[in-house]
Amino acid sequence: MKTRRDFIKLSALGSAAVLTTSCLTSEEKNEKLIVNSKKTRKPIVISTWNHGIKANEVSWQILSKGGSSLDAVEAGVKVTESDPNNSSVGLGGLPDRDGIVTLDACIMNHENNCGSVAFLQDFENPISVARKVMEETQHVLLVGEGAKQFALEQGFEETNLLTEESKLQWEKWKEKSNYQPVINSENHDTIGLLALDETGNLSGACTTSGMAYKLHGRVGDSPIIGAGLFVDNEVGAACATGMGEAVIRIAGSAIVVELMRNGMSPNEACKEAVNRVVKKHKNLTNLQVGFIALNKFGEAGAYSVYEGFNYAIQTTTQKEMIDAKYYKKW
Ligand code: ASP
Repeated sequence: MKTRRDFIKLSALGSAAVLTTSCLTSEEKNEKLIVNSKKTRKPIVISTWNHGIKANEVSWQILSKGGSSLDAVEAGVKVTESDPNNSSVGLGGLPDRDGIVTLDACIMNHENNCGSVAFLQDFENPISVARKVMEETQHVLLVGEGAKQFALEQGFEETNLLTEESKLQWEKWKEKSNYQPVINSENHDTIGLLALDETGNLSGACTTSGMAYKLHGRVGDSPIIGAGLFVDNEVGAACATGMGEAVIRIAGSAIVVELMRNGMSPNEACKEAVNRVVKKHKNLTNLQVGFIALNKFGEAGAYSVYEGFNYAIQTTTQKEMIDAKYYKKW
């Protein structure tokens, strides 16, 4: 008797290894039929935190008209990047300890193509620069001045990202914190957004101004393919938010996708990745990490170290915020 996990595993194998029916036992043939008849929920978009609702709406406009998941994820997170009232992404993002806003972003499509920018300054939509890196260069990751030069060459316009409000908050922080950057429940909130389109293709995008008041030059998990974001069209996609260093240490998003490949549901895979974060860190003080995941069937899930993480979901029949399960309370 095979479990549902085995079915998913078989399905993943089916597309990866191109199993022919001639080499299957009759039991396996039967299972393959069951797998193939499993109804996929698509299109679907999910994204991290409350700002995900607005981002999803814009992604949905594309997905519901049969548009590509790649266009949907880019357009969705741009909403958050361009919102000056959001202090953790793009315009209005809180600066580093020297008062400079530096942005990290990456994007990945169903063919494992990916593009990324890190430590980028003065551009409102780093996700679009990341997409250009993917589409117009042989590279995956551009950083700092080089990324800026590339963005200018691609026609992006410079913008002052430090809003009056973010500047005030930074000045207030400077009075007390004596240049010791910390992460806590208030000063981080990356948007990671994953979409499955009508044709069954997955893409993901992740963008952030990173940990507030970080050291100048610090880059977190969000632009690192495999850490902040990973997509494998045979299996599913995942992205991360929270303490980037902890996510990088366990190759977080890649691990979530591998766990789904081995048969876990999105919820189970996110939980196991969080367990690894917990196992590898003796001190969990202020160490929030959350993952969201979406598999090829349009099943979604999430899990976080601390209570309070949520994600937004939109499908033809569902539009809501879902509270993630968690390892512990604050
Ligand atoms: N993961 C981001 C970083 O470490 C922070 C966040 O999720 O808000 O830069």
